Amino acid sequence: MGRKEIIIVGGGMVGALSALLLAQQGFIIHLIEKNKVQIHQQAGDFDLRVSAFSAQSTRLLQKAGIWNSLPKTRLCAYQCLQTWEKDSAKLTFDSQNLNLDCLGVMAENSLIQSALWRALEKMSNVHLYVQCEILTLNNNKNGVCVCLDSGITIHAYLLIAADGADSLIRQKLNIPITAWDYRQKCLLISIKTDKSQQSTTWQEFRETGPCAFLPLAGQHASLVWYHSPEKINQLEDLSVEQLKQVILHEFPILDFDFEVQKKGGFALTRRHAKNYYQDSCVLVGDAAHSINPLAGQGVNLGFKDVQCLVDLLVMQNTLELSDVLKQYEQKRKVPNMLMQTAMDVFYKGSKSQLPSIRLLRKSIFFMAQHSGVLKDTVMKYAMGL
Ligand SMILES: Cc1cc2nc3c(=O)[nH]c(=O)nc-3n(C[C@H](O)[C@H](O)[C@H](O)COP(=O)(O)OP(=O)(O)OC[C@H]3O[C@@H](n4cnc5c(N)ncnc54)[C@H](O)[C@@H]3O)c2cc1C
Repeated sequence: MGRKEIIIVGGGMVGALSALLLAQQGFIIHLIEKNKVQIHQQAGDFDLRVSAFSAQSTRLLQKAGIWNSLPKTRLCAYQCLQTWEKDSAKLTFDSQNLNLDCLGVMAENSLIQSALWRALEKMSNVHLYVQCEILTLNNNKNGVCVCLDSGITIHAYLLIAADGADSLIRQKLNIPITAWDYRQKCLLISIKTDKSQQSTTWQEFRETGPCAFLPLAGQHASLVWYHSPEKINQLEDLSVEQLKQVILHEFPILDFDFEVQKKGGFALTRRHAKNYYQDSCVLVGDAAHSINPLAGQGVNLGFKDVQCLVDLLVMQNTLELSDVLKQYEQKRKVPNMLMQTAMDVFYKGSKSQLPSIRLLRKSIFFMAQHSGVLKDTVMKYAMGL
């Protein structure tokens, strides 16, 4: 076992980015992914799963050397973000006020994951184990050892668990979590509009949950509709034409014609690991924390974990691993928890119909819109600037 061997479990965006950045620093990487990795089809329809990547996330992808290779025809920089409560004034954030080109970039998750995997495949110090399951995990202060269902055994000095919200590694380590289900689902709807590329993303808060519009490249866009699980299940069962009619009825704000191309429902869950590491294993991304997607922060927080862990592993390589992991937990746990809690308060507050809360909410929207520097500061924080 070499000191610089690292096992990464989970090859989603967070695991694959960790693998690439660490491989570029000379670590020997063993990346284990239980599913087949989807190859992104640039000429195909847009995927359902899309994310808003913050400036900090795009900088990290640039550092990893993949951002500039992404096809511009699949990226949508947006300059304006609007949010409002139904029938109330709008709160608007504009990149011009912040002296920025854009507030963020919308892209399909599979586009980013594919680009990371293509880069990993070219690295001689990266070993990829695809469609492999971990049978056993031995973890202690001196290192870690996993046995795969393919019969392979791997030893390393560190294991990074990036295996998502239901992390098997976190469960095998018996790391406790705080968790609840929001008792809501959201329906992601890919649409093709009759308008050219749009530059505003918006979110309307309703008593049943928010509805959001995310512009994508070209004439494509994504609608996100939060509602009770029963309602989302019903919507999922509709044909695309029937769904379009319901959308037209429920989203009178849409000022363009469109066709529904894909749809899919997702349950909303909240999880936070009580500790981020144990002996020689550490959690990153959704394995450590999964957050309500309403502010599009999930993968951005995961990328911040990656940046922090990679920097510590590279710069502090004279330190004991336990000190590095302790520092990682200290740096990441509180900001992740604050963002999670802020989203929960916002989400719960946005659904309350108590007259006093409604009045407070409207006042907050009004004050926020007129708060100038404070509004810009909040936006910059969300963008990781
Ligand atoms: C509806 C919805 C909308 C969202 N919108 C946004 C957004 O706009 N912006 C944003 O920042 N975030 C958004 N998020 C959150 C974001 O998608 C997640 O935070 C992000 O995908 C987490 O990445 P990850 O790599 O940590 O985990 P995942 O994407 O879950 O990847 C985990 C990987 O590990 C693999 N795996 C799992 N178990 C094992 C195992 N036992 N062994 C090996 N491999 C394993 C999986 O196959 C997968 O490839 C959204 C989430 C949802 C549900």
